[in-house]
This record gives sequence, structure tokens and C-alpha cells, in this order.
Amino acid sequence: MRTEDPQLVRLADYRPPDFLIDRVALDIKLDQKKTRVTSRLSLRRNPIGRAGAPLLLDGDELLLLGVTLDGQPLDTSRYAVTPEKFTFAEPPEAPFELEIEIELDPSANTKLMGLYRSGSAYCTQCEAEGFRRITYFLDRPDILSVYTTRVQADRKEAPVLLSNGNPVEHGDIPNSSMHYAIWYDPFPKPCYLFALVGGDLGRIGDTFTTMSGRKVDLAIYVEHGNEPRAAYAMDALKRAMRWDETAYGREYDLDVFNIVAVSDFNMGAMENKGLNIFNDKYVLALPETATDADYAGIERVIAHEYLHNWTGNRITCRDWFQLCLKEGLTVFRDQEFTADQRSRAVQRIADVRTLRGQQFSEDAGPLAHSVRPDTYREINNFYTATVYEKGAELVRMLKVLVGEDTFARGIKLYFARCDGTAATVEDFLACFEVSSGRDLSHFALWYKQAGTPSVAIASTCDERAKTLTLEISQDTRPTPGQPDKKPLIVPLAIGLIGANGAALPLKAEVDAFDGATQSELSRGVLELTTARRHIVFREIPDRPVVSVLRGFSAPVQLVQSATDEDLVLQCACDSDRCARWQAAQSYATRLLVAAARQTPVGANQASIAAFGEALRQIVATSDDPPFTAQVLTLPSEADIAREIGENVDPDAVYLARQSLRADMGRALSRELTRLHRDLDQNAPYSPDARSAGRRALRNTALDLLAASDDAAGMRLAKAQFDAATNMTDRVAALGVLCLIEGEAREEALDDFYKRYAGDALVIDKWLTLQAIIPHAGTLDRVRRLMRSDAFSMGNPNRVRALIGAFAAGNQRQFNAPDGSGYEFIGECVLLLDPKNPQVAARLLSAFRTWRMMEPKRRRPAEATLQHIQAAQSLSPDVRDIADRSLA
Ligand SMILES: [Zn+2]
Repeated sequence: MRTEDPQLVRLADYRPPDFLIDRVALDIKLDQKKTRVTSRLSLRRNPIGRAGAPLLLDGDELLLLGVTLDGQPLDTSRYAVTPEKFTFAEPPEAPFELEIEIELDPSANTKLMGLYRSGSAYCTQCEAEGFRRITYFLDRPDILSVYTTRVQADRKEAPVLLSNGNPVEHGDIPNSSMHYAIWYDPFPKPCYLFALVGGDLGRIGDTFTTMSGRKVDLAIYVEHGNEPRAAYAMDALKRAMRWDETAYGREYDLDVFNIVAVSDFNMGAMENKGLNIFNDKYVLALPETATDADYAGIERVIAHEYLHNWTGNRITCRDWFQLCLKEGLTVFRDQEFTADQRSRAVQRIADVRTLRGQQFSEDAGPLAHSVRPDTYREINNFYTATVYEKGAELVRMLKVLVGEDTFARGIKLYFARCDGTAATVEDFLACFEVSSGRDLSHFALWYKQAGTPSVAIASTCDERAKTLTLEISQDTRPTPGQPDKKPLIVPLAIGLIGANGAALPLKAEVDAFDGATQSELSRGVLELTTARRHIVFREIPDRPVVSVLRGFSAPVQLVQSATDEDLVLQCACDSDRCARWQAAQSYATRLLVAAARQTPVGANQASIAAFGEALRQIVATSDDPPFTAQVLTLPSEADIAREIGENVDPDAVYLARQSLRADMGRALSRELTRLHRDLDQNAPYSPDARSAGRRALRNTALDLLAASDDAAGMRLAKAQFDAATNMTDRVAALGVLCLIEGEAREEALDDFYKRYAGDALVIDKWLTLQAIIPHAGTLDRVRRLMRSDAFSMGNPNRVRALIGAFAAGNQRQFNAPDGSGYEFIGECVLLLDPKNPQVAARLLSAFRTWRMMEPKRRRPAEATLQHIQAAQSLSPDVRDIADRSLA
């Protein structure tokens, strides 16, 4: 261990800034190699800052050309400058203006942070700390300034010039090939929300009239020729704008709202004020080129970034430790938006799947951290499932605890109180303390304590006394830096199901010490606040099945004493769809874990048959196709591995899952064949939830049929592949073919490539399907594909589609016992790190589960991590992940 860590940033060290920047005037002259940035900063001392403190501005790889103070050149003896820091030792006491001139080379910027080139356009990415790559600045989110931005460029090269806020002026520069545009953003904002775009781009436009009757001009900018592919994104944007008005009373506040799609982007999208910049993957869609999942992703991400206008932009974060304040809340809001647009139950199930697959895995390994961490070395590494997905769960849990109306009043108060400020988690919670009258200090522990709590429920029934006793307990295992865990407040939505499948009313009496309260029972939500709780239900006629964690009311791992028969009954009858799905998953997990451990199941053939029957009923009625598809989809290999927890053998996990899929396909073959046939849609493609749900079920049926019978599966998949009229069905068929070794697979892959060569986003799907083939030989295939024209190491989407998919989506080959998968990812990380450390670090985080593997796999994984750790000149991003993975 290092004794001191100069890079470590601590929440406890937060201090208000010594200076404030009220206004920023930027003048940016775009040039591929020599861009000039002049920034005029209106500075003053912060009344609550340290008296007499020097002015320290952040930079990153900057080249200073000149600096003036109140219009006069600043003598070089008065300041010190390096590419990373500008120090003005004795700045004036009175407010002053500092003008700084910088030269940048956007074409050399491969980190895709700051100002860079994507294709033929200039664009920016400033969150978290990219603005310091554009000019020296107080690069911290609690510096809120009003920006005026003048952009100048060659008229031919960049006819479109955009920045934040409203357009003020534009024109030609006489006697030159240049033109300019001036933008003014009246809303004070942190510099991470600054954005600029310049390029020759196509545009689709529309308008939106807000609830108070203001007209807003909307535009989406894409590469020429892609305009028709942006129509769905525009539609999603308008729906999101309307939804924020009706659901939260939030109105849009500028005259224009612009979205630009770029092909080189480290993340999904960025919510810059009035000028969202998107990875084109989340903008472009046509039925022939995008799947239902792509459409759903576009709808969600468009909404997410738009909804940030209030939760993130109008109210921003005081410091980066508060990242969950904007991300957790905005993910919660985008989930609610989607639930209102589509099926609420199916949306909830999808959210839970993501949470378990990504966040629970993170929590179970060396990269576990709390939703609001206490320290970080590289903030880019904290854009995680924990901050986003678990952060959203905390908001949802708060809503369950205080109730819907109180939650609505609390959030309204938050908007009223914190608008225009850089806020903290405490500011947020304080609003709900006011609206609910509750002390939320215990709830706040969820933000500080990492790890997934296990909640165990044991029920015993006394048939003579007609009582049901619940013993509920919680436990959270240690995580890095947090050896001792305290009990949390856990809301458990609960219901009782009688033997005939009907719901029983909740009647309970308060046990001598701690029973349930009347309010808990009327809401159907028990609050677990201590390590253990004991509740007695009276007047229970027969032994009921206890349905807990309905709607997944808390982000916990449930350990149930339910019998197999209980789970089967729940799967068939629970009135809560999320709980039904959950019961099916739990039952399947029992079978899968036993099979993967090669411990013979208690040979409970009767319950297996009953489970099969319950599934058959669900399939046969299938009144909600996307729900049925979710019930038929087994837990992922990663989920099963996490459930096993230690000494995992991914081959055994894979084989167990394959075998259960085959059993399901065989047992339900008649029903599945019928579904696959009847759900065939001759109607023109529509991306709406109902049609997408039918396709999801049809393709799930195809997948299970193929799992049970290679030859029949291949025939069906081949026919579907050839006849498909939309990308959803074609990719689903290709996915099935990819799992069956042989000529048909290679032919279909060749055919797909020929059809779509040149359409990078479609070819990404082709790369991914090959990267996740679970069979031997995949690594060679991935290496071959890396050398092909379809791939580029410089583009994050390609890297994620091929290498990222292999690391995160191919449990078997990534964790190959000879260590070849680990070595390969290690090589890629080292190759990528000097060019794009953020994407390299993300790739390396695939090792987060290495400690739960069996020893023969753990050894090569550790060796690869050590090899990376020992490398010279690693980026802080990759060093941070390597160190934490090995700690
Ligand atoms: Zn976000």
C-alpha cells in the first residue's frame, strides 16, 4: 500500500471555491490543427473563500499563448503556468477580468475529452473534467457562470456552428472564407455542461409548444443522408418534453433545443445545456437497420438527457461525489417515463435485470463502492452501475417509504429550493424530510454504505393457532474499505397468497415488542430497520405463500425459505407481475446452481413438472407477450455465477444453462412452435411496445426451440433470417444461428456482412454476435475481426461491440481456463490506454468478477492484472482500476 496518495480526492476535504466566475466569454476559432480559444473570465473573490488565496486554474495538456488582466498584458513574473495548471499568486482583491488565449490541436485529441474531431465535425465532451482541455478554468461543478460563445470556422468546412443557449447572431467575415455564430446561455451553468459543435451536418427540424405556450425550435443534426433515421429520436424527444410537464410540471426554458449525433463518443450521450451531444447509436434508427432494443434504447437515452435539463442542469452537483444526485434521480425519471410509454411491469423487470446483472456484480467484487463514494482517484471510473442504477433504486425506495403524494411534494420542494444551485444529496433528502415529517438520516446510510444487503425471510405457520410468523433478517458482507456494515432501512412490499392462488388480506397484531404497524399493513410495505424483525400475522386460515419484495421494492438479494412448490404457485398466481417473474427466476436459479455445482437436485420431479405446467399456462394464455418473454428468459450466466459466489466454473454454468434451455424447449415445443408461427407479423414494422413485445416473445420461442433441437432450430432460424423484413427478426435469427456450429452460421454471417457493409452501427451487431459465441475458436475469430475493415480501435463503439462484448458478454471464453481470454483483454487495455484511457479503463473493469472464479482461472486473471499494474506510464484511469481490482 502507498502511504500517501497524491491523487486521492476526498469528500471530507470539500471546500467552497476561493473565486467565483460570474461570466465567461469564449471566442473559438476552429481549425483542425490550430484552434484558437480566447476566454474572458469575469472573476471575483468568493466571500466565503479563503482570504488572500492565490488563483489556481486547472488545465490538461494546454498550450498558453497569452494572458491579460483587465485588458493589459499580464507580466510573466506574476503567474506560473504548466500544461496542467495556471497559478496567479496575487490576483486583485476587487473583481477583475482575465483573458486567456490557448492553442489546441483537435485532430490529435484521441481521448475524446475536450474539443476533438468526430468524422468531419468538431465536437466537445466536457463531463467530468474535459473543459480544462479547452482552456484554463476553475473546473469544478460548483462554479456556475453565464456563457457567451462566439464560434468561427471555415464556411465550407463547418456551415453549422452550435453552442449552448439561444442563437444571438451569425454572419460572414468579410473578405474571407470564414463565418461565425454567437450563442448566449442565460442560465448559469458549470463548465462540464459547455458544448460546441461545428461541421457540415444534415438537419431535421420540428417545434414544440410548452405548457405555457412558448414555442421551442427543435433540431437534430446528423451526417448527411442520415436525416430519415433521426425521426424516431425527434418523436421521443417531444414525448419526453411533454411527459416532464405532465409528470413533474417541468417546462423547457430556452428558445431552441438541439441534438447532434456523432460517431466517435466515449459514452451514450451528454446533456449539455440546450445542446445534447449523442453517440449516433442512440439517435439513428430505421426498421431495416435498428432492432426493437435499439428503438427502446433511443427512447430511453433521449428522454434521460432531456430530463437532465432540470435534474442535472438547472440543479447541478456541488462536487463529483454527488454524481448520483443527478444520475440516480434522472435514471429513475427515465425509467418512469418508459414505464408510462410502455408496460410498467415489463419495464420494472427489465430494470431489475440490469441492476442485478451489472450493479450486483459490481457490488460483489473488488470494485464495489457506495452510491456516493467518500474518495476517488479518477472520477471517470465512477460512471458506474452503482451510481446510476442503484442510485435510481434509492430514489424509488424513498418513494415507496414516504408514499406517492409525499414523494411528489418533496420533489416539488427540491425544484423550488435548489433551482440554480449546485446541490448535495443532503439538500435532496432534506426536501423529503420536510414533505414527510420523517427523519431520513437512517435512509441516508444507503448512500454511504456499499454492498448488496441479503434479506432472509423465514416463515412458519401454526395451523392450530392460525398464525403466520415471519422472521426477517438482513446482512451485508464487507466491501473494500468497509469491513463493518450497519443495518439499513429496507422497505419490503408484501402480500399473502392462499393455497387456491387468491390474495389474502393482511391482518396482523402487534407482537409484544415489534410487530407490524397499521400503516405498514394498509400500505402492504413492511419496514425492516434493524438486523432482525419478527412479525406475527393472525387469522390465517391455511398456510399461505408469502410474496415479498413486490415490485422489487428494495435493491437487495432475497434469501427465501419458500419451498419449490411456493415458488411455482407464486409464478402461476401472484398478482404482482414482477414477483411472478421473480419467482420463476428464483426457481430456475435453484435448478441451475445445483446443476452447475453438479450437486444432484433433491429430485423434486413433481415441482419440476408443476413449474413446466405453470410456464405452459403462461405461454398458452400469453396475454402479455413481453412479460411471457421475460418469464421464459433464464437468469444470465453472470447471474448464476454470482449466485454460486465462489470457485465458479463458467463452463459448468454454461452447460447447466444450455441444458435447462433445451429442457424448456422440449417440454414446451408445441406451444413455442405455435407462438413462433402465430406471432409472425405481416403488418409493416412498427417500433411500438405492443409490436415489439410480440417480436420479443416470438424470438424467445425460436431461441428455446433451437436450444432443444439444433437441426430444427437451424431450419427455422435460416428461414426467418432470409425472410425477415426488419432488423429485429434478422438479428434474432442470426443470433440463434451463431450458437449452432457449422456452415449455416458462416453463410449467414457472410450474407449479413454483404448486406450491411459500410453501415457501422449494423456491423457492430455482427461483431457482437461473433464475440459472444460461447465455443472454442471465438478468440481467434475476434482477433481476425480486429484486423478487418469492419473494426477500428479508434472508435469506442467498435471497441465495445467487439472487444467489450467478448469481455463482458462471453463468460466462457473470457474466463477460459488457459488464461487466453484474460491475456487478450489485457493486451487490448494496454494498446488502447495511451489513446483513450477512459475506454481502456472501462474494458479492464470486466475483471471485477475474477476473485469468484475457481483457482485455476483466478491465477491467470491475477497474473494479467499484475502485468498491467506493472506497465510503465499507465493512465490514472487504468491504474486506478488495476490497483483496486488487486487490492
Ligand atoms: Zn445522465
